[in-house]
Amino acid sequence: MLRSRRLFVLFVATTLAPAIGLGWLGWRLVEQDRALEKQRAQERRDHAADLGAAALERALAEIDEMLATVPDSGRQGVSLVVFGPQGVLRHTGAALAFYPATSAAGEPSPSVFAAVEALEFQSPGPTGAIRALNELAQAKDPAVRGGALVRLARNYRKSGDIPRALGAFRELGTLADTRVNGLPAGLLALQGSALLFEALNKQEDLRSQASLLDADLRNGRWLLTRASYGFAKEQTRRWLGRAAADPDERDRLALAAAAEAAWKEWQAAIRPEPHTRGRRTVWAEDRSVLVLSRSSPDRLVVALVGPPFLQSLAELRSLRAAQHVDFALTDAEGRPVLGRPEGPVSRQSVRTASATRLPWTLHAISTTNGEGSGRSRLLLAAIALMAVLVLGGGYLVNRAISREITVARLQADFVAAVSHEFRTPLTTMRQLSELLVHDRVSTEDRRRQFYQVLLQESDRLHRLVDGLLNFGRMEAGEIQYRFEPLDPSILLREVVAEFRQEASKTGYAIELQESSGLPPVRADRESLARVFWNLLDNAVKYSPDCHTVWVELAGVGKGIRVHVRDRGLGIPAGEQKEIFRKFVRGAASRAAAIQGTGVGLAMARQIVEAHGGEISVESKPGEGSVFTVLLPCAEHTV
Ligand code: ADP
Repeated sequence: MLRSRRLFVLFVATTLAPAIGLGWLGWRLVEQDRALEKQRAQERRDHAADLGAAALERALAEIDEMLATVPDSGRQGVSLVVFGPQGVLRHTGAALAFYPATSAAGEPSPSVFAAVEALEFQSPGPTGAIRALNELAQAKDPAVRGGALVRLARNYRKSGDIPRALGAFRELGTLADTRVNGLPAGLLALQGSALLFEALNKQEDLRSQASLLDADLRNGRWLLTRASYGFAKEQTRRWLGRAAADPDERDRLALAAAAEAAWKEWQAAIRPEPHTRGRRTVWAEDRSVLVLSRSSPDRLVVALVGPPFLQSLAELRSLRAAQHVDFALTDAEGRPVLGRPEGPVSRQSVRTASATRLPWTLHAISTTNGEGSGRSRLLLAAIALMAVLVLGGGYLVNRAISREITVARLQADFVAAVSHEFRTPLTTMRQLSELLVHDRVSTEDRRRQFYQVLLQESDRLHRLVDGLLNFGRMEAGEIQYRFEPLDPSILLREVVAEFRQEASKTGYAIELQESSGLPPVRADRESLARVFWNLLDNAVKYSPDCHTVWVELAGVGKGIRVHVRDRGLGIPAGEQKEIFRKFVRGAASRAAAIQGTGVGLAMARQIVEAHGGEISVESKPGEGSVFTVLLPCAEHTV
């Protein structure tokens, strides 16, 4: 008990304590690693925020530059519009849904068509008007041609000549941007032919015209006012059955609304300064549009920067990927302009508008979660592995030590048992020898009896020493078996006969039962005889009450079987395997102070196994035991 407690203390000291220490160390390391990772993420974010702000500032400076030069091709997602006092003069870059004012310049004066209109509305048939209009449709000025073609189509339609009406619209379409009645000729041609198809209920043709019109509106093909854009959009919606505006359209509507606001402001302003620059944010359609402007009394240039531009800004994109951050922009009121500044503040680096001189506040948000970094996990795994190794190693060492302790204890028991075995016959022999030497034995009969006892005791000692020497040789692996074919009946009969002589002196009977005609076994006579002797000796030794032992020899399968049965103490199930190990003695035999050294069955097992056989026991405490030896017959032994 004391020893196992010491062992436990040793185990705790050598294994548990280092494992706990290791765990603590690991935890500290992981904590430090996390703090380091957080700090790194913070540095990355700060760096990204600075770079992002610089990239935005650069992009805006470039756009500012464009206001002065108005290049033909601008930056992606930026619209440039040049206004004159009459309306839009030029526009480049991303198309707006509509424009605040379209200039009516270039339209022919209404007097050009006064004569034909008088013909159309005053004469009974359209023939006269059609002839006159056909002439006008040959004019050099595309604007005059456009006006003539619109009217021609109307007259053809009135006279029921649909193919010609459609032809007029087709021709009108080729005039594209030429403005007729304030609208582009191309748009009028599409609308006109679609209306014709609608009236004729030609659904397929109507849809194809409406789709062309819709595509043009989406691409910002035409320079339209808010009203004409809205009207055309409504028409396509009716013809195509489309739902509300999509995100792209809303982007373009927002740009248009911002341009309109800038235009109105410019219109309303008294313009004292020759050149004014402006930068402001306009909210429309739930979107924020940055309007950069450069104005003079006769010219307004605006650059409109909407969400698509910010989303597609290449510098921000590459920073996102390289620094593991996401960017968000908010306006002065905290409304999200680009992305959303979501997540805890501890994972954001903020650059305010006042610090950067940008029109927005920039948020750089870490996208990686520093706490779950791969390195931390690896460290944890390594520490867990080490802890498992330490604990596993400790357990194995502990087990090996406790086994050694058990063996040492068994050996000490063995030495005590051997000494005891020796002492009993030696004491008897000493006492008898003393009596004989001092001539204190009265009769001759008694003297002979004493000599007999002396012989018996010396025989017992001889056998004991012989057995121990054999065990020693066996342990050292020095036993040499001399195998020969043996008749198992003869061998067993001889052993039983010899043992009977011994046993009969203490009143024990051995009953032998054997089958006839058993095959020979290949065995070492002396060793096998020792096995049976040991089994018989144990059966007698551990049967204090029943003085009969039964031995049975029979053939089984390809070999023979020997049962040695007694009705003695029996062996509990928990000990039945253990007793075949060296030095192990049963608890009952020790309690009953039955002498023994604990090596007999270990030797028996080694010998039987060397013969290719098996030894086993079946037993119940208080009822007795049956030891069984199985041996293969000679012809089946290799
Ligand atoms: P020993 O008899 O010298 O103690 P053995 O190796 O022959 O050593 O036997 C080991 C143990 O097995 C014994 O101590 C005893 O507890 C148990 N044992 C062996 N044979 C019998 C038996 N026939 N009946 C009850 N117990 C037995």
